[in-house]
Amino acid sequence: MKILVTGGAGYIGSHTCVEAIKADHEVVVLDNFSNSSGIALDRIAEITGVRPVVVEADLLDTPVVEKLFKEHSFDAVIHFAGFKAVGESVSEPWKYFHNNLVSTLVLLDVMRANNVFNLVFSSSATVYGDPEVVPITESAPLSALNPYGRTKLWIEDMLRDIAAADSRWHFILLRYFNPAGAHESGLIGEDPNGIPNNLMPYITQVAIGKLKELTVFGDDYPTRDGTCIRDYIHVSDLAEGHISALDVIESVKGCIPINLGTGEGYTVLELVHAFERAIGKPLPHKIGPRRPGDSAATFADPSLALELLGWKAKRGIDEICNDAWNWQSKNPNGYQTR
Ligand code: NAD
Ligand code: UDP
Repeated sequence: MKILVTGGAGYIGSHTCVEAIKADHEVVVLDNFSNSSGIALDRIAEITGVRPVVVEADLLDTPVVEKLFKEHSFDAVIHFAGFKAVGESVSEPWKYFHNNLVSTLVLLDVMRANNVFNLVFSSSATVYGDPEVVPITESAPLSALNPYGRTKLWIEDMLRDIAAADSRWHFILLRYFNPAGAHESGLIGEDPNGIPNNLMPYITQVAIGKLKELTVFGDDYPTRDGTCIRDYIHVSDLAEGHISALDVIESVKGCIPINLGTGEGYTVLELVHAFERAIGKPLPHKIGPRRPGDSAATFADPSLALELLGWKAKRGIDEICNDAWNWQSKNPNGYQTR
């Protein structure tokens, strides 16, 4: 397939480009590098031997996107581009609504005008809000806890409505649980701007000495050690899930949400201990208060992904920690461009 990858220079996008090239797809990346570096593209070329076509542009720029679709005959689009910082979305909701929603509308308009009807969308387990039941199946109730989550929910709703109105569309909504780790080469990985919000990049920056210690947000949850449970999924497993989605997208009727998780939940302290095994020394950490809005336990029922995509996660928590550390220690300052 010839595929457009929006946000292809980002954390998950870059790993997906690697897997797409490995699967012999032809990849065109559109990215404005608002949260990524062009060096990721050089690294993709180093890993795969193939340099994807890269268009540095904003997905909000309709004429540029129209021109791109005239120049290339795409079979499908994987849509990663968007902002993702929960805290920032609370303080600047407009920014999130504009970038995430309007860019998706631009993309859908241009796709329709050019008869491209296959879209894989980056959704998130955040659409389950604070889940009442775990493991979470795709039929669980949906809700948003913050403006970022609301953009995912709104886009999902939009795609459901569009699919119901026009049977030419095929949408797969991939609901990611907690992406973590890095490509086994250590050449690409997560490169957050400023102090990381997410657990794994925070841990790796403590391990490298950039941050003093990890604060574990709460140890009084009703879990086995009192800390929150999440479903950490290796980013290369996640990337492979997108390729499996491309394989079946033409046969999808309408709009289908699919969880991409491992089905295994780990507590914060279990992840810390797994990481300590990877680095062979203790990781400085202390217990702090709860972070508002956190759910006690969130992990996937990944059985639909196996049934519909023939996909399941292959890599476990130790591989996630080893690969995250390999990336961070080889690239202490990430891609070093921001
Ligand atoms: P990322 O920030 O690393 O990648 C997003 C990419 O999109 C970046 O390269 C950024 O420069 C680009 N971008 C943003 N707005 C753009 C625009 N208007 N035009 C062109 N490019 C634009 O994030 P990621 O972790 O790789 O996440 C990818 C997608 O997956 C996002 O939609 C995110 O919401 C979703 N997601 C991520 C996680 C996670 O924990 N990383 C979890 C669930 C869902
Ligand atoms: N967490 C933590 N300290 C940090 C960052 C995160 O204890 O510095 C915890 C957080 O409370 C949650 C888990 O780690 O229980 C995963 O948090 P993350 O923000 O990575 O993902 P999400 O909460 O979106 O699932």
